[in-house]
Amino acid sequence: MDIKDIATPSRTKALLNQYGFNFKKSLGQNFLIDVNIIHNIIDASDIDENTGVIEIGPGMGSLTEQLAKSAKKVIAFEIDQRLIPVLKDTMSPYDNVTVINEDILKANIAQYVSDNLADCDKIMVVANLPYYITTPILLNLMQQRLPIDGYVVMMQKEVGERLNAQVGTKAYGSLSIVAQYYTETSQVLTVPKSVFLPPPNVDSIVVKLMKRDVPQVEVDNEDKFFKMTKSAFSQRRKTINNNYQSLFVEGKNKKEVILKWLETSGIDPRRRGETLSIKEFANLYNELKNFPELEF
Ligand code: SAM
Repeated sequence: MDIKDIATPSRTKALLNQYGFNFKKSLGQNFLIDVNIIHNIIDASDIDENTGVIEIGPGMGSLTEQLAKSAKKVIAFEIDQRLIPVLKDTMSPYDNVTVINEDILKANIAQYVSDNLADCDKIMVVANLPYYITTPILLNLMQQRLPIDGYVVMMQKEVGERLNAQVGTKAYGSLSIVAQYYTETSQVLTVPKSVFLPPPNVDSIVVKLMKRDVPQVEVDNEDKFFKMTKSAFSQRRKTINNNYQSLFVEGKNKKEVILKWLETSGIDPRRRGETLSIKEFANLYNELKNFPELEF
């Protein structure tokens, strides 16, 4: 028997009725009911029969089932216990899907990856993310240095634009820097609200982030580097010089030393953070070794 795709209004509604499921807004539950969007996401993910996929928030399995058809294995993290019996049912035709009932922000992903995906040639994260935690999810995955080759992920439009923003634009900020430090970013497609049940309040976008072989710039301590870049945007309207006054601990002639540091790095102190490229931030960071009095 040919079962209808989950990502259709009729099958999704039938499953909702069958399980008496009601959406939890607090968990960002907006399910996809358009299989074309899912095919676009999968096409952009370059998945083949040797690819392992990490999915975050499978919901009732609309994206998971299509991933299962194209990938070698899928591990899917779903926080909502009520969806586990639904997924057990909808994923029963696929023996390459493992559903994990855990919070993605707390799970030991490295362990799950080595237990389940070690025999895959490539690992992709593919997901219609829970929007309320898009940024922590992506930062957590990228900064853990997991063996992930790339991400094709749906999220709120504004967040996707920030990930992909070019220097000098309004959307450019510390999130753009972290994402572009580790990955090459591109926009895959914009998604109308009408393809979700229930429709979200915000517009959506699918973004692709492919891991760079080596990070875009060289710094000796990533956490410190990101702390330094973040501080340049703490008050967006302020100059870099002003913002950096609050980053460094108090010390003798702090103001003058900061100016000297900016000048030696070739950065006009009147510039704003959003005008500095990642390379310029890296120069600033690397120049700090000549200014040991500037501590943070
Ligand atoms: N993939 C499904 C789809 O596209 O139809 C559902 C996507 S829905 C936008 C987000 C899913 O993430 C929900 O199923 C929700 O329960 C789940 N979720 C929310 N917070 C989570 C967390 N911290 N860890 C894992 N899953 C989470």
